[in-house]
Amino acid sequence: MTAKRIDGKAKAEQLAEAIKAQTAVLLKDHGIRPGLAVVIIGEDPASQIYVRNKKRRAEACGFHSVQHTLDENVSQADVLGLIDELNNDDAIHGILVQLPLPDHLDEQTITQSILPSKDVDGFHFVNIGKLTAGHTQDAFVPCTPAGCILMIEDELGPDFSGKNAVIIGRSNIVGKPMASLLMQRNATITVTHSRTSDLPSVVRNADIVVAAVGRPDMVKADWIKPGAVVIDVGINRVEKTIDGETKSRLTGDVDYDDVCRVASAVTPVPGGVGPMTITMLMSNTLRSARLSAGLPG
Ligand code: NAD
Repeated sequence: MTAKRIDGKAKAEQLAEAIKAQTAVLLKDHGIRPGLAVVIIGEDPASQIYVRNKKRRAEACGFHSVQHTLDENVSQADVLGLIDELNNDDAIHGILVQLPLPDHLDEQTITQSILPSKDVDGFHFVNIGKLTAGHTQDAFVPCTPAGCILMIEDELGPDFSGKNAVIIGRSNIVGKPMASLLMQRNATITVTHSRTSDLPSVVRNADIVVAAVGRPDMVKADWIKPGAVVIDVGINRVEKTIDGETKSRLTGDVDYDDVCRVASAVTPVPGGVGPMTITMLMSNTLRSARLSAGLPG
């Protein structure tokens, strides 16, 4: 079997076009332009790239987009002061603080200071609680798992009854919300992590595999049930030497070429989950703008 390559980039672009069209309607009919504020602290090169991509996508969707770049040594009080300003700014519907933060800042205090109604990353405890309780009508779902679910639905339809799903990784950003979303679609869930014993044999039961670990090419073909749908969230930078030349490239947590021999569909890295994550951020921001006007999300 040669698996289908799930083209997250193409799907993300299609969705972004729809978001752009809805943004134009919201502006024309209600005078509201969705506003996204991104706060970046310090010089982390990967974060700089992510923030640049988010800003570009926001502008392409027709959003009001602002970026606040703060010094590596900024005080926690100053960060909280800026978030307070953005919470009170009617032109801003979504606030995102790019993670990771420098060590002297408390990530939890900062993410929890964003108003739940502007928390387009879905990290506020109110949004996590609503997602866990299945109350997603007015919650913001974290962008990466939200994008993964859309790609799985494209392969399996909207109802995963009778399917086993195995998530590798239990982070608050990916693994845990992924479990809630898959459960809401009636899949039977196993969440695995670094303390799981005999991980390959657990994964072999899965009709749906979501890998969010941060270990290059960890998931191999002999872990995969024939016909499974495999979603690779991992982003790992590795050095590879080809013809004597060493180059840096991105790879996922799934050994793509190997797993493609067994699975029915696999997301590539890059070009899979990453672009969908950014587009779901735009979707959440548009939703926030609509909700702020009393319109359905
Ligand atoms: P994290 O470090 O918070 O969590 C990693 C998880 O993997 C932990 O739960 C840990 O228990 C588990 N783990 C570690 N080693 C393991 C092992 N040997 N076997 C099984 N489980 C193991 O990471 P995260 O924030 O969830 O991110 C995971 C990966 O996904 C990273 O590569 C990150 O860069 C990537 N990521 C990508 C996107 C995207 O948009 N594509 C978004 C978020 C994260």
